[in-house]
Amino acid sequence: MTLRIGGRTIRRGTTEQIQLKVSEFYTSTPVNVAVTVIRGHEPGPALFLTAAIHGDELNGVEIVRRVMTSLRPEQVRGSLICAPVVNRFGFLNHSRYLPDRRDLNRFFPGDPNGNAAARTAHILFREVVTQSRYGIDLHSATVRRTNLPQIRADMSHKKVRRIAKAFGGEIIIDAPGSPHTLRAAATRAGVPTIIFEAGETYRFQKNIVARGIAGVRNVLAGLDMIEEEPREPRFQVIVKVSEWVRAPRGGILDILVRPGEIVHADEEIGVITNPFGREVSSVRSHLTGLVIGTTTVPMANPGDAVCHVAKLEKTLHTVEKYCVADSRGRKTLLL
Ligand SMILES: [Zn+2]
Repeated sequence: MTLRIGGRTIRRGTTEQIQLKVSEFYTSTPVNVAVTVIRGHEPGPALFLTAAIHGDELNGVEIVRRVMTSLRPEQVRGSLICAPVVNRFGFLNHSRYLPDRRDLNRFFPGDPNGNAAARTAHILFREVVTQSRYGIDLHSATVRRTNLPQIRADMSHKKVRRIAKAFGGEIIIDAPGSPHTLRAAATRAGVPTIIFEAGETYRFQKNIVARGIAGVRNVLAGLDMIEEEPREPRFQVIVKVSEWVRAPRGGILDILVRPGEIVHADEEIGVITNPFGREVSSVRSHLTGLVIGTTTVPMANPGDAVCHVAKLEKTLHTVEKYCVADSRGRKTLLL
């Protein structure tokens, strides 16, 4: 099978570095996305690995770099197509967005005659996504939030389910994703794709990078693309419902929970005080489950997202088994 990206043919048994032109700066210089393809001697599926589609979400950049520099073509069956910095504009500007404030991850599969985001998306989709049989897209929480490492996947899709489980994370959020994300558009186009979502913007977080690398390698092993014993998670929970607990009032927020902690319905998870220091209101969770994300800033307007809770029912007991109690007696999942 011929593999061509950015006009270059990638032969079996080679690693190719390609500057894929996706747009142009207003200085008329090309906007290139660096794509590395490791094509094995032996046949097998192609898998794409993308990061920084939101230009400020950096953990994935390091995950892709470490995976791609650790593999030689003789160790790979099929092809690994790696784009560590998909949103080149946002990456340069320390921003989630494109220069027109559009979110690139809302414009897939793109349109060659559309707006700036749609045009960029179109080239990435044509050159990277549709050349692949599977995909993993790497994200962090949006700015001023943090996420517990989690997989997001449409578990009703058999092949998506296969790679989501193979990744080997403990928490899988079962959701199709909004329709014009890379993940949803790729899956619709016959390229089952999952998201690894973990940590914060603007940082390389060592434990998260390590988990991401292990997960990607688990998927490659599960697809028989590399020779490696996949690592089994201690447990795996598939979450169907997750909701944000929101600030009831405006003020200074003291958040009492962290990602990985168990919360119960009606439990206090934060306190909002006014600038005179008097307590004005309590933030309470409306559901029982696992905290999978929180805000990281202490200022809250009414309605601001404070804490993202994955609803646990039957699986609550399973998760609790792997928690340890901290000095305050709170049960925390150590990931
Ligand atoms: Zn993102």
